Amino acid sequence: MSSSDQPVKPAKTERYRTILLFGAPGAGKGTQGKILGTIPQFYHCACGDVFRNLTIENELGRIFVEYSSRGQLVPDEHTVRLWRRNIDSMCSSGRFHPERDTLVLDGIPRNAHQAEILRDTLDVRAIFYLTCPDMNKLVERLQRRALRENRLDDANLDVIRARLETYERDTKPVLDFYGPNLVHVIDSTKKPVEVLQEILNIIAKVR
Ligand code: ADP
Repeated sequence: MSSSDQPVKPAKTERYRTILLFGAPGAGKGTQGKILGTIPQFYHCACGDVFRNLTIENELGRIFVEYSSRGQLVPDEHTVRLWRRNIDSMCSSGRFHPERDTLVLDGIPRNAHQAEILRDTLDVRAIFYLTCPDMNKLVERLQRRALRENRLDDANLDVIRARLETYERDTKPVLDFYGPNLVHVIDSTKKPVEVLQEILNIIAKVR
């Protein structure tokens, strides 16, 4: 049999080694993600930032504004396509090295369907569930962020309420998708440095 007759092996698809930052809007995922992303061999990707980097001339940019201004999730197909495109370009520009780096994801997967679509893409090793039992504290943090980061979706109380409802209804089931063994519950009302310390203690064990 000549070499050209050899059966073609399917390409081995490597899943990205991933940790998920999970929690309600305002729980501090972005704060922790940015810090973790500065550690060598960790790459932070916040899905909301990927959307915010689009311009309004871009059709997806307009779709993003339409949904996020109502506190709703952008439809899954658009979201996952954009996210994949972003990760691919981070790989080809050499900013993310999947064979070496751990992906620190924040804001995706944001419902069980996205988790299902990404089943063959993500190898989730740990989920850091930043909890905040006090709704008012979350609202207060979001309103402060609205001013600091010029985020329109944080400025309006009705939109904030809608986002918290979306989180309870659509996003929380992601925890069930991955199951309790991966989930590490962390009290996000602690100081950021204490939250970070807990995350790092766990990462050091699971890597
Ligand atoms: P927060 O920091 O409040 O959790 P994000 O910056 O992650 O908010 O997201 C802002 C908005 O971007 C969301 O309200 C939603 O409209 C959109 N978005 C971000 N990530 C996703 C996602 N994975 N699926 C659908 N929509 C998303």
